[in-house]
Amino acid sequence: MKFGGTSVGSVNSILSVKRIVEAVDEPVIVVVSALGGITDKLINTSRMAAAGDASYENEFREIVYRHVEMIKEVIPAGEAQVALQRQIGELLNELKDIFQGIYLIKDLSQKTSDTIVSYGERLSSIIVAQLTGAEWFDSRKFIKTEKKHSKHVLDTELTNSLVRETFSSLPKRVLVPGFISTDKMTGEVTNLGRGGSDYTAAIIAAALDADSLEIWTDVDGFMTADPRVISRAYTINELSYVEATELCNFGAKVVYPPTIYPVCHKNIPILVKNTFNPEGVGTVIKREVSDPQSKAIKGISSINDTSLITVQGLGMVGVFNDDIAVCQHSFNVAVSLLTMGTKVAFVVGSHRAQTGPVVLRMHQNGVVLGSVIVQHCFQNLIFHLDEFEGLIHALFVFAGHDGHHIAHKAHMAVNEQAVMRTGFRIGLACLRVARRILRHILPCKDRFDPGH
Ligand code: ADP
Ligand code: ASP
Ligand code: MG
Repeated sequence: MKFGGTSVGSVNSILSVKRIVEAVDEPVIVVVSALGGITDKLINTSRMAAAGDASYENEFREIVYRHVEMIKEVIPAGEAQVALQRQIGELLNELKDIFQGIYLIKDLSQKTSDTIVSYGERLSSIIVAQLTGAEWFDSRKFIKTEKKHSKHVLDTELTNSLVRETFSSLPKRVLVPGFISTDKMTGEVTNLGRGGSDYTAAIIAAALDADSLEIWTDVDGFMTADPRVISRAYTINELSYVEATELCNFGAKVVYPPTIYPVCHKNIPILVKNTFNPEGVGTVIKREVSDPQSKAIKGISSINDTSLITVQGLGMVGVFNDDIAVCQHSFNVAVSLLTMGTKVAFVVGSHRAQTGPVVLRMHQNGVVLGSVIVQHCFQNLIFHLDEFEGLIHALFVFAGHDGHHIAHKAHMAVNEQAVMRTGFRIGLACLRVARRILRHILPCKDRFDPGH
């Protein structure tokens, strides 16, 4: 079971977590995020200190206040509360010293930053362990990363064996901080990326062949769209791993994208549930989806503020989606890919497209086709940055057995540059995964409405 930041962010929500965890009869491993908003605050505070802004101290005081108050509210007064306040106080003192060091030397390395953010989960997990009577285990000891291309990535094999070793005899209730890890060579603190507590839980679930992975959050499951953007979005009861992966990769932040693979591999279902409405059905993500939805569009997700780079020309004839690998040398951002006939389009974050040259290298069957800086020509491929900026890269998952027919129709309409029934203007699209998933590029001002 994993509880996110909002689930452990307030007195009411954390008490709800306590009730949910205590109602579980079987042995359970609970993974928690930092108290809601604390990771952002830790990052801001360290940036302020590094910039020589003395008011970082106020930010830090707020971090202290949040934890101290939470303990006062949820742990009954007495010895246990005093001991917990002392334990939390020690961690906060360490943190205070680190911030002061940054303020004095005005320097913030990645290593220090990773150490600082780790305090969020270290603090919250100790509180929730005490609250739920669970045994606390330190995920830094068994979630191991290695450095690849200047990024920390999970060492799956080592982590799996350490997780199995750690939990070879499983106590009734275990509490683990999410998100944090250590480098397998140096032992330095690392993390699994923003939103990474979901991933911690998935890694543990997969390593131990758990019956299920439960992601407890602040909405009623995986919805047809982000409910903060579309108020009429509703819960999707069932999703396949593939559909969920596509939606998550495209901005449905309810589940951190790397989470799905380890459990999918082991065929462990993921349940997405609402801490604030535990009776709600939520969503199950699994291999086979039995219940085709009655609505045509199953889910929509989108990434705002993107730019489009198109590659076209005779050189593209016979180049297929699967043949193309793109390397990004000069920017560190995910590139999404769309193809239609002799045109291939790359979608990158707008801010990235504007700064510095974008170098793309295309391979076909292992052979380099071209390596090009955007807006230059190479062989007979022309790369250019379209004038469109501030676009939305949207993804639609169509439902039901005839989903691919509907997707196909929509796709044809796009190719003809037609205005669809729903009224949004579309630039470019492609069909993927059993032809039931359609990607569009839309101008930002257009709205999606899954209710139509
Ligand atoms: P947690 O703190 O529990 O990890 P997150 O903020 O990471 O929670 O994810 C939950 C949020 O994801 C929701 O509050 C919602 O605004 C957003 N979200 C985006 N797309 C979707 C979607 N398709 N379904 C549900 N929630 C979504
Ligand atoms: N606390 C971390 C973050 O805010 C990890 C998580 O919440 O999953 O990104
Ligand atoms: Mg999250």
